[in-house]
Amino acid sequence: MDSNDTSARFVAHHVCGLPKSGIRDFFAIASQMRDAISLGIGEPDFVTPFAIREAAMRALEKGKTSYTDNRGLKTLRDAISRYVAANYGPEYNPETEILTTIGVSEALDIALRAILNPGDKVLYHSPCYVSYSPAVALCHAQAIAVPTFAANNFALTADALSAAWEPGCKALLLNFPTNPTGGTASRELLAQIAAFAKEKDLLVISDEIYSELTFDGDHTSIASLPGMRERTLFLHGFSKAYAMTGFRVGYACGPAGVLDAMLKIHQYAIMCASIVSQEAAVEALANGRDDMLRMRDKYRERRDLIVRRFNELGLPCHLPKGAFYAFPRVSVTGLDSLEFATRLLHSQKVAMVPGTAFGAAGAGFCRASFSTSYEHIINACDRIEKFLQTVRKDTGA
Ligand code: PLP
Repeated sequence: MDSNDTSARFVAHHVCGLPKSGIRDFFAIASQMRDAISLGIGEPDFVTPFAIREAAMRALEKGKTSYTDNRGLKTLRDAISRYVAANYGPEYNPETEILTTIGVSEALDIALRAILNPGDKVLYHSPCYVSYSPAVALCHAQAIAVPTFAANNFALTADALSAAWEPGCKALLLNFPTNPTGGTASRELLAQIAAFAKEKDLLVISDEIYSELTFDGDHTSIASLPGMRERTLFLHGFSKAYAMTGFRVGYACGPAGVLDAMLKIHQYAIMCASIVSQEAAVEALANGRDDMLRMRDKYRERRDLIVRRFNELGLPCHLPKGAFYAFPRVSVTGLDSLEFATRLLHSQKVAMVPGTAFGAAGAGFCRASFSTSYEHIINACDRIEKFLQTVRKDTGA
């Protein structure tokens, strides 16, 4: 804000206190640089598969330009209900238990707004997606980070949850596979987390946006475990698996009472997701599986490449089991996350995101998105190698 702009006096205190997303900063700088390679942004580099784009074009051709039911097109909710039952387990009633939203972003926002009273507390695992803690703060509630560690593949344990729990905790926010660590949770681990949620009477908000992009083993939803369907909000969307970020479609499935509360906020704030995007989403669920698997296989190849290169370069990096992020430990260079990312960007024009953008537990790490081409990853790693040579010369490490 420039110094003549006095509008800060109009801005709510809790909004003034919110940090801007650290991801966008790096992306903005990289996008201004010629020949920069961005490993910064968490967005598929694939264009949305043609059949899905075609469905959107067909919708426009047919003059589908209206609002839809606030809950979303019935055809889409029916398709979501079938898809979730077939792939995740729980069956949700499309009339009362499914709400179509503008991405998982909206689903998360209205879920929190629907359940939180001022002062309530929400547990979430850290490092995690940049929106979680601010979204809780925007509800005048308190986000409590539960740290996870590289030594344990960033797994969230019931012991860590118990240690972080405080009176006033109402919800637990989960994200498996996890942005930024690529961590997943086994059925056994989820069972322990579920037992904890029941013991403490928590609503679980489970963001499973990367679930199709699970590379090793099967994805399990906590909503499918005994006794969890009634205390879980299952959030999912089309952005990542179907390369549909710009369409902005997601959904929430859960107990009718909570969905109804979310619907009220959605009705007043949003009304409905775009009809064109919803038509495209129907096509994605009907016929998009092969394209989705093709993209997942590409991500897996890229993951194997980038993780191998990081480890060869002396940046210890665990193998992410899902999502499209590698999370190497850069503190071995003697630089902290921000110094590493800043110097790398300015000297070699490679954008990575400092781990601290994802919470204090990300200190010492940087996130590299491998949702970019194989060639870009090779070039980026070659440049990182050069960068490391100069850093080692400077520090004598
Ligand atoms: N949840 C996680 C964990 C994400 O990484 C992202 C985007 O990066 C979102 C939600 C937002 O997704 P959408 O495009 O569906 O709003």
